[in-house]
Amino acid sequence: MTSPLLHAMTVDVEDWYQVSGYEGAVDRATWHERESRVVRATGLVLDVLASRGVRATFFTLGWVAARHPALVREIAARGHEVASHGWDHRLASSLTRDELRDDLRRTADALEAACGHRPVGWRAPSFSVGRDNLWVHDLLRAEGYAYSSSVFPVRHDRYGIPDFPRRPVFLRGEDGRGLWEFPMTTARLLGRNWPVAGGGWMRLLPGAVMRAALRRVEAEGVPVAVYLHPWELDPGQPTVPQAPWRARVRHRLNLDRTRPRLERLLDTMRFAPMGDVLATLDPATGTPAHPATPGASLC
Ligand SMILES: [Zn+2]
Repeated sequence: MTSPLLHAMTVDVEDWYQVSGYEGAVDRATWHERESRVVRATGLVLDVLASRGVRATFFTLGWVAARHPALVREIAARGHEVASHGWDHRLASSLTRDELRDDLRRTADALEAACGHRPVGWRAPSFSVGRDNLWVHDLLRAEGYAYSSSVFPVRHDRYGIPDFPRRPVFLRGEDGRGLWEFPMTTARLLGRNWPVAGGGWMRLLPGAVMRAALRRVEAEGVPVAVYLHPWELDPGQPTVPQAPWRARVRHRLNLDRTRPRLERLLDTMRFAPMGDVLATLDPATGTPAHPATPGASLC
């Protein structure tokens, strides 16, 4: 049985060697020498989504868009929303305001050159919006963005704001303009927030446990944000032996389970691009204001 609420399906489009966990082991200066598998792996994601008739948001690196513009065009042509994941996966928390502005503009230029539209959504690499750089929301508003999906309300060694709201929040600036922050989905258990909706967590948790947790969030009337990466559907990707063991375990755990779990999830809940989901929400509550009416994709 499918669910009544509309949820956000999101994909962070980056190649297998561009993840933050490998940052110390794979120098950006060597990225162009690596075997690029992002086109094929993203094609797998597109095919799974097409098999279930689901559209999604693809937060895409500018670096990838500049080298594979046809991939970005295909994502848009298949009806999905193209959004920004920044230029080359530098953490937002490591950038000054001017550096992040340049990063946003350079990425938007590459995405626009590829598919003809500027992005209105952004996801910080590795959810790198924390307490110390919440100013990014003002910058995004000024740059014309409609939403961010960059805060993880959990305790984690690399990211997170544990007490951030667990539902989308509409942040109004001093100029009166608003911007949504759609945080990563967490479930409440034992007085803590637990990540349940994507990435390594989707591969670590038993599928039934994940689906039950998402159902609980749905029962709260809150839309879920699921996220995954194309490389998570690619068990044949090269290994990076020089990376720290923790990063290697997180990266490679149960890669063969991503696809069947994604398919099962798509059969269980209703999904749409994040921009479409946010369009159904009441800014005052972050919950649906009216019945879902998925519209044309944003790019
Ligand atoms: Zn990423």
